[in-house]
Amino acid sequence: MTAEKLTLFFGGIIRIRLFWGVPTMSFSRTLGELRRSPFTAERLVSRRVKDELRENLILRLREGSPIFPGIVGYDDTVVPQIVNAILSRHNFILLGLRGQAKSRILRALTAMLDPEMPFIAGCEIHDNPYSPICRRCRELVAKEGDATPIAWLTPDHRYVEKLATPDVTIADLIGDIDPIKAARGGHELSSEFTVHYGLLPRANRGIFAINELPDLAGKIQVGLFNIMQEGDVQIKGYPIRLPLDVAIVFSANPEDYTARGKIITPLKDRIGSEIRTHYPATVEEGIAITAQEAWIDRRNDRGNHHPIDRNTGGEGSREEGSPEKGSLPHIPKYVQEVIERIAFAARDDKKIDKRSGVSQRLPISAIENVISNAERRALTHREKFVVPRISDIYAALPAITGKLELEYEGEMKGADHVSRELIRTAIAKTFDTYLHGVNMNQVVQWFDLGGEIQLSDNAGAQEVLEGLIQIQGLMEKLGKLNVGPKDGTEKQVSAAEFILEGLHAHKKIGRNEERVFRAGEKPVKIAEKPVFERDESDFGRKRGFN
Ligand SMILES: [Zn+2]
Repeated sequence: MTAEKLTLFFGGIIRIRLFWGVPTMSFSRTLGELRRSPFTAERLVSRRVKDELRENLILRLREGSPIFPGIVGYDDTVVPQIVNAILSRHNFILLGLRGQAKSRILRALTAMLDPEMPFIAGCEIHDNPYSPICRRCRELVAKEGDATPIAWLTPDHRYVEKLATPDVTIADLIGDIDPIKAARGGHELSSEFTVHYGLLPRANRGIFAINELPDLAGKIQVGLFNIMQEGDVQIKGYPIRLPLDVAIVFSANPEDYTARGKIITPLKDRIGSEIRTHYPATVEEGIAITAQEAWIDRRNDRGNHHPIDRNTGGEGSREEGSPEKGSLPHIPKYVQEVIERIAFAARDDKKIDKRSGVSQRLPISAIENVISNAERRALTHREKFVVPRISDIYAALPAITGKLELEYEGEMKGADHVSRELIRTAIAKTFDTYLHGVNMNQVVQWFDLGGEIQLSDNAGAQEVLEGLIQIQGLMEKLGKLNVGPKDGTEKQVSAAEFILEGLHAHKKIGRNEERVFRAGEKPVKIAEKPVFERDESDFGRKRGFN
């Protein structure tokens, strides 16, 4: 027994042990065993990847199980169109702006593949044991017959993805002639033995995803089309026949895709369905996506990628984490809403480039940074709970500014200024959903009568609370945010600060760079303190106190 065969043999034993409890699975190790397993020639030979996707999707539809678990907000729009595309056995393209879960959906297609798929062991392009397309495997099967070794692939190994860029070559995507291989094996240059396979052949019998398709050079698109259409391609002038079995899916920015001349017409014709993705339609959907994707539970160092209860933010968990290990923060619902509304406001803002959009990664990165700022404060002051405040959102600007592609007008003002404006807009809208029509005169009056309070994001909750309770009429309004005197100091401070920030966003009270809240700017005051006010208003025009 050779070393190779021995490995195969033990490999077989290990597999059998691993899957002992799954009687329906048959992990044949040779072609002969495979023929006697459920993976018969009859079943496998003509069943192409798109048939497999379709069959498994049909099973899901019959069972009523979710098609794309974890994809929020697409149930009535994107998902039915993808289902139709798969049922139609189409290659399809997702058209959408950045951060619309396009790559994630494409990756999720692997859930529609069989749990295991047999191929000829050692084949770079995962040849079908009953109808190999590469010469090595054809010769191997001819020589070994039923003793031909078989290996197995899981769905994850059957998914290949490539971000298209203008410098992607035919060699990357389809393959190259390898002169060293030719010299070593004594083969002709054009012999199939000398081909070094690119990504697409390596995705044979699986799913190949090309992101940002329009960035692919025209001649590469031609090569891709030839493979899809005829299974023939030329590599360095040598015709190579590669009748691949691949489900090819794409993603693209809609404007790039529809721009004239970006995609060669025959390739466009071969893409069966064009499916438009979109940003979350409602703030609630946005919050659900952000909660799912962001690293919120700091006791779990895995990062997220596991669904979080959507209500976590609202009423919050009462669990207390030890600061050394990290904690589960209590994120007030209004903080989540403000963060989400920043993205909504940005998507509507003419200072921001519509073509690139505002990714869902903006609120995701922002909330992570917001939590971290609150975590930092809690650690410094040895506080029990991590409760983000609105000031933590301003402290999270580094996670926001880079996510905005600015138009000329926005660039003139600067990303920092534009982001602050967006936060202020988001605060004002959120404030209205909780406190619309609530009489705040008493609070505003306190400031008008000369009251001032500094609310630094670094200040501990106890210290800040002592100042806040001096403001007449403020603390009793916290009930509107479901916060009461029995709640923790951290929660009360966060809620009270939100109200003051809301009043500031509505220009009822003022706030300066040092985060000192005070009376709003009133013309009469300019006369009283001319020097100071001139400085402030100059500053205000340029940077804004938002
Ligand atoms: Zn092969």
